[in-house]
Amino acid sequence: MPLDPICKKIIPENSEYISDYGGKTYYFCSPECKQKFDVLEKSVIRLKRNLSEKEKISFGKLKKDIIKPGICTLCGACASSCEYITIENGAPKLVGPCKACGVCYYQCPRTITTEEGLIGSFRYAYAAKSAIPEMKGQDGGVVTSLLLYALDEGLIDCAVVTTRSKEEPWKPIPKVAKTREEILESGGSIYSHSMTLEALMSAIKQGMHSIAFVGTSCNIDAVTKMQKSSYGLLHLFMRAKILKLGLFCMDTFTYEGIKAVLESYGIALENVEAMKIRKGKFEITLKDGKEHVLELSDFDEYRSSSCQFCTDLASENADISFGGVGSPEGWTTVLARSAIGHEIFNEAVDNGYIEARNLTDEELEKVLNLAKMKKVQMYALHMRQKV
Ligand SMILES: Cc1cc2nc3c(=O)[nH]c(=O)nc-3n(C[C@H](O)[C@H](O)[C@H](O)COP(=O)(O)OP(=O)(O)OC[C@H]3O[C@@H](n4cnc5c(N)ncnc54)[C@H](O)[C@@H]3O)c2cc1C
Ligand code: SF4
Ligand code: SF4
Ligand code: SF4
Repeated sequence: MPLDPICKKIIPENSEYISDYGGKTYYFCSPECKQKFDVLEKSVIRLKRNLSEKEKISFGKLKKDIIKPGICTLCGACASSCEYITIENGAPKLVGPCKACGVCYYQCPRTITTEEGLIGSFRYAYAAKSAIPEMKGQDGGVVTSLLLYALDEGLIDCAVVTTRSKEEPWKPIPKVAKTREEILESGGSIYSHSMTLEALMSAIKQGMHSIAFVGTSCNIDAVTKMQKSSYGLLHLFMRAKILKLGLFCMDTFTYEGIKAVLESYGIALENVEAMKIRKGKFEITLKDGKEHVLELSDFDEYRSSSCQFCTDLASENADISFGGVGSPEGWTTVLARSAIGHEIFNEAVDNGYIEARNLTDEELEKVLNLAKMKKVQMYALHMRQKV
């Protein structure tokens, strides 16, 4: 016995209300149900069919991602696309058997449903590591190796990097690096804001024409704004070509805050060899080889306020982006975005500076998951510990 697709009643096959659609006959209990189907539901059915071939997304996911965190705008798009959703007491509510077709999720203006929406557009994604034996980097040492290749080949005059202050260990000092030694010294991540734009302008004023610029997503945005906005300062420096190497970034903390938390555990910054944030932990490696694993939540009060409003994990406006998430330990995840970025990266691989393989779907999924968390900052911070 057929089912009326609108009211879901079982009806006899000899019903006089029928519609043929997509090679299939649909039966209805009444002219009203048939009319509803003819006007709107055909397209919803088509959509449901297409989506159900992809993945199962239920109302529960809409509830978890959008309604519960309080970022629903009450636009009603979900309710208008499914008869099982109503708006009650100021929130969408499920009032029937959800078929996990995903249609409501795909209509909601607050969900992000494309890869590009999460991490920006890119040509290829790689897992990579330095092929230079002495290289010490934060993850795979790929940023530093790429800079070395570009300098050795004469593709860049200098690189804008961030180094550690000699006077105040782990205080970020932006720098115009013009030699191999200066570039090698800049490897590793410092988890505080670095005023990289000051160094970029200094490089331009020194007459540098071809500049590799390394920075977090917000640093890359600053360069992009100065290049693209009508009153952008970089319009005035026609000769400066800037290759934008973006770092994935979840957050930064004040230098004083990092210092205070470490001191509360009896760790002096001058004894710290490396810092790494991973899976909700702040890992500290000391110069004598000892390791400390601190809770990221210990640093919460020192998180830069700007980072709480930042939604770009993957430096979407860069020529190439680099991060730790996704790839195995000791490797860097690389998203080659622009043609020039892709070309330079591949040249560095071909010339033996970097080893690379394609990122697997599972690895890319980890990047997408972290990016989703950042896009919807309203998620509880503790969720980060699961990625
Ligand atoms: C503040 C910060 C937060 C980050 N958060 C994440 C994250 O949440 N998830 C993730 O997957 N990856 C994150 N990264 C990126 C990651 O730590 C590595 O930088 C990236 O994977 C490249 O590793 P690598 O070994 O190839 O780079 P390396 O060869 O070690 O080169 C690192 C480059 O980063 C530059 N740099 C260091 N500190 C800063 C700074 N404060 N501002 C600007 N440039 C800097 C150095 O100049 C150097 O050129 C973060 C990086 C930073 C700086
Ligand atoms: S559109 Fe309706 S049936 Fe489909 S997932 Fe949403 S609530 Fe469930
Ligand atoms: S579509 Fe999204 S934003 Fe609009 S009412 Fe439904 S859950 Fe809220
Ligand atoms: S989280 Fe955003 S604002 Fe904060 S340092 Fe990273 S890119 Fe900049």
